[in-house]
Amino acid sequence: MITLIIHADRLLTPVAQPSKGSEMRKVSEEFDVDIVIEDGKITDIRKHKNADIYAPLVTPGFFDAHTHIPFIGSRSKEFLMRSRGKTYIEILQAGGGIHYTSKLVRNATEDELFNVAKTYINKLTSHGVVGIECKSGYGLDTENELKQLRVINRLKNEMPNKIASTFLGLHAKPATDSGKSVEEYVSEMKNLLETIKSQSLADYVDAFIDKGVYLPSDVEDFFAKARELGFKIRLHADEIENVGASIFGVKINAISVDHVLKITDEDIDILSKSDTMVTLMPSTSFYLGEIYAPARKLIDAGIGVALGSDFNPGSSPIYSPAFVMHLAIRFLKMEPEEVLNAYTVNSAYVLGYESGIIKPGYPADLVLWKTSEFLDIPYMFQENFVEHVFIDGRMVV
Ligand SMILES: [Zn+2]
Repeated sequence: MITLIIHADRLLTPVAQPSKGSEMRKVSEEFDVDIVIEDGKITDIRKHKNADIYAPLVTPGFFDAHTHIPFIGSRSKEFLMRSRGKTYIEILQAGGGIHYTSKLVRNATEDELFNVAKTYINKLTSHGVVGIECKSGYGLDTENELKQLRVINRLKNEMPNKIASTFLGLHAKPATDSGKSVEEYVSEMKNLLETIKSQSLADYVDAFIDKGVYLPSDVEDFFAKARELGFKIRLHADEIENVGASIFGVKINAISVDHVLKITDEDIDILSKSDTMVTLMPSTSFYLGEIYAPARKLIDAGIGVALGSDFNPGSSPIYSPAFVMHLAIRFLKMEPEEVLNAYTVNSAYVLGYESGIIKPGYPADLVLWKTSEFLDIPYMFQENFVEHVFIDGRMVV
């Protein structure tokens, strides 16, 4: 039964999932075609005959490969403190930083967290995002990490978006007032893994491996247990300083190592011989005024790069794919075709979804744009060019 036909003046789509290195430049472009959708899947791309909806440009929907939804509260005061030259430590000492958000998340009910998260996901969707990573990591104890993961599960069930759930209990060191040592806290989070698995509360396990947070040696047993239980692995790696996190990610077969601002040429060589992808979030570099990841070196070495917003209240209150793509083209020196591959097939791959290609057999996860020129989207990033968004053939915007 034919359910829907979308006409595209221009259809732009990646061709392989995942795409790595020079493959990231490959896109297929067709003109004046109809996309035939039956029961949520694309069944045919044909020369235009008739259609239900018309669009100047159709691309696959975006997958945001890295966000910190669900969270609650604003850290706009820190924005001002940073702009006035205060350091991260000074902000922490003034009661800001991750433990501020953690306090708000701990005090929030599941309904409150769910409602805020739902609002944010709807905003992302209105900008063309069909799939999203959601993480715990603001609970920072057994009870509240589980609370965040239950909220993510509810988002998975109640939102149309394709959501991947990540357990990030090791997001920060335990708060000093918790009275827990690093060893005690890591062990508490390790003990939580079986509960999370038995209740199917997460697909991925992540940790912040960096200077001042956790070192690979702190979390080896934790990840051995996570792998034994069948969790997929991803890491916050080498963002502040190189502590060998990217290489540790390769060693434990991580799906993705994320940020990697301080990755070395030797690390890039090792990564290029592995299946591990790299997820980059230029929005965080922009917001914090940090250096940008060496995206060109990574792609030129044959590595697969995904993009995400890192949407979170402390280091990236930014969720617009158009703006992230603007930064990726401008500061990561990525080509438009690479950016499209990174935000669709590659980020969907990192999140465990087969999507991001417009061809028969793939789910109808699509964005219909108001412009025919893809480059207009990152160029005039403040304009929302999204006309409609489809997830599994269902119009959600
Ligand atoms: Zn993050």
